[in-house]
Amino acid sequence: MLKPFLAVLLTFCFSAVFGAGADITQVRVVGDGAPTRITAWSDVAEPGEAFLVETDGVRRIVIPLGLNAYSAEGFGTGGVESWQVRPGRLEFVLDRPMQVARLLRLPPTGAERQHRLILDLDTVSEARFSQAASRDVRRLAAAEARPAPAARPVQQAAARPATPARPASGRGHVVVIDPGHGGRDPGALAINGGVEKEITLKAALELKRLLEADGRYQVRLTRETDVYVDHEDRVTMARNWGAELFISLHADAAGSPNVAGASVYTISARGEGRVDREARRNNWVIPIEDGTPDRVTGILTDLVKRETRTRSAEFAELLLPELERAGPVLRNTHRNAGFYVLLAPDVPAVLLELGFLTNAADARRLQSDAGRRAATEAIKRAIDAYFERQDVRLAAQ
Ligand SMILES: [Zn+2]
Repeated sequence: MLKPFLAVLLTFCFSAVFGAGADITQVRVVGDGAPTRITAWSDVAEPGEAFLVETDGVRRIVIPLGLNAYSAEGFGTGGVESWQVRPGRLEFVLDRPMQVARLLRLPPTGAERQHRLILDLDTVSEARFSQAASRDVRRLAAAEARPAPAARPVQQAAARPATPARPASGRGHVVVIDPGHGGRDPGALAINGGVEKEITLKAALELKRLLEADGRYQVRLTRETDVYVDHEDRVTMARNWGAELFISLHADAAGSPNVAGASVYTISARGEGRVDREARRNNWVIPIEDGTPDRVTGILTDLVKRETRTRSAEFAELLLPELERAGPVLRNTHRNAGFYVLLAPDVPAVLLELGFLTNAADARRLQSDAGRRAATEAIKRAIDAYFERQDVRLAAQ
């Protein structure tokens, strides 16, 4: 089900981006009519009601906008011939009768800093469209007669009292580094002396320095000294800081001294059942706008979780080739795991095993400044690539 849709997405994708400070900042249409998905990004939350309109044989979908005051237009695909942004309106001209099967409003979350309005369209019969359009005439008139809402700030704090609002954009991407173990929990023991908790902390501090020197990142560590921190607290910290990326640093141990190399983990399918359970237990609430019906909240929550999973995998795939440039990696190394620190429902996260402390070469590498530097520089390159890709996606889709 997913794969054919992705193929379609790659083949037919039309979108455009507008100036900063605009209300609607981007419109994208993908799909082939079964379904076709429209995504509109905006600086502020729009009421986001969609109406079917039929005038002079032209079928359209009209979305009244509260605050937009400029014009733009572009082509669509999969039943959407074209779209126009106009003061007060976002419109889609259809080349076949379609209905809005699903309409979602997503607040900013994770690495996505804007509001999104998502409409999934299905092809329907002409009679069905006409019937819906005649019903929508009065509803649209009523919606457009309503006074424009005042610009609403992002009311995330109210929607999720357990977590403070995400930091304002412009202060850099928030990266949280989690040095594994600490305090009474030493982690793995190195074959040449030394323990995992020391190596992970050194690597984390070095990575922090590297990232901060870049200027594009806000970096936080879940611990900066040799202290014990509970797993759930590490995740809660990352969420409270508005983490856009969470990287847990570890070093592995194996029965055989021959096993060597770095490996990267993201959440496993089996670990995923725990995501919901732990989210409930720790009150890791995905921010959904106030007043959203329960039914829709469930759909939004699933979307956020899916996106988080995709982004985690994306980062892992960027990280591996960089690690390969810096040292040995385990074969088939992007494995899925159920590690507790990967359980945040809305923070892309990976767990990186820097190498095996039971392997002499790995242990030496990770305990040398040069070896650790090679590893942290590799992570930094992957972080750069990850956020560059996200920024391009935001700017140019
Ligand atoms: Zn560990």
